[in-house]
Amino acid sequence: MRAFIIFLSRAAWAQRLVTHWGIARRAASRFIAGESGEEAIRVIQHLNEAGILATLDHLGENTSTAAEARQATDEILQMLDRIRASGVRSNMSIKLSQIGLLLDAGLCQDNLQRILQKARQTQNFIRIDMEDSSLTEKTLACLRWARTQGFENVGIVLQSYLHRSQNDIQELITEGVPVRLVKGAYREPAEIAYPDKADVDQAFDRLAGLLIAGAKQHANPTANENGLVPPIPAIATHDPKRIQTARDLQVQYGLPKQAIEFQMLYGIRRDLQEALVGAGFPVRVYVPYGTHWYPYFMRRLAERPANMWFFISNFFRR
Ligand SMILES: Cc1cc2nc3c(=O)[nH]c(=O)nc-3n(C[C@H](O)[C@H](O)[C@H](O)COP(=O)(O)OP(=O)(O)OC[C@H]3O[C@@H](n4cnc5c(N)ncnc54)[C@H](O)[C@@H]3O)c2cc1C
Repeated sequence: MRAFIIFLSRAAWAQRLVTHWGIARRAASRFIAGESGEEAIRVIQHLNEAGILATLDHLGENTSTAAEARQATDEILQMLDRIRASGVRSNMSIKLSQIGLLLDAGLCQDNLQRILQKARQTQNFIRIDMEDSSLTEKTLACLRWARTQGFENVGIVLQSYLHRSQNDIQELITEGVPVRLVKGAYREPAEIAYPDKADVDQAFDRLAGLLIAGAKQHANPTANENGLVPPIPAIATHDPKRIQTARDLQVQYGLPKQAIEFQMLYGIRRDLQEALVGAGFPVRVYVPYGTHWYPYFMRRLAERPANMWFFISNFFRR
């Protein structure tokens, strides 16, 4: 089922079908903060009132022309200004395929540079999301290029389902790069990724341990004062067992609570988000907005077949 939904997330015909269903738009709205920037800022204001930080994502990926990539970049720049003007506690997450990675590395670097310059001006931070494995190497190369240009306001995502992540995480820790650890949301072949959930979970705990130990080596940097620039380890999961393991590791390594951050997706496990805030941990919610919600929505359905049944049963109940 998971593989089939991920296949559909990439099929243009399925996108045309699904995005025209009113019921799909309503189902997607559980995971998406709205189509406009204003709606997204309002959602973040509510999260901030509950003590939750945010990372904003202007939905879009696999851009197919240079003009579209520049337009997506402009939207991100405007949003950084809007975050600054509204004073919300949110940084931004971006996908390099949205700003031209599939078209031309130079174009992508130019767009990334514009984004990081604006983030620097507005004292903000950019997290580069990790896409499917065809882009892992290119994404890491772009991150490293940005850091050699003197940009330290940028971090990355690693996926515990990939075998290579063990090496990647060790190198990135040495380089002092903030890392968001996730399980991974794409469909990957067994030669490069663990097919079994138990192995992905075990790898997640192991990599969380490396990340937390790594933060210690860097003298436990914490988030900056306004919470926009995160600490080195961001543990991004809704899995209570993974969260408990990370909490145990945080205690074991003597890491202050403020030197680690938990991250979850908008619309998922709000109870857990609030419990962690209550326990004194920084919590950041990933807030996607925009009109290009289809692939993001399909990946959320793939993660939990129950979401798919809920969606289908609503469709037949119309
Ligand atoms: C902040 C953040 C950023 C992310 N960025 C990336 C990225 O850049 N690249 C990437 O590949 N992946 C990314 N992901 C997605 C990630 O890889 C997983 O696919 C996703 O988090 C589900 O895995 P899980 O860790 O929650 O564990 P799971 O074992 O999948 O789920 C644990 C529990 O969480 C709840 N849950 C999980 N997913 C859902 C859902 N869709 N709907 C309802 N309940 C759910 C359920 O209660 C489930 O039992 C990100 C996730 C987060 C939280």
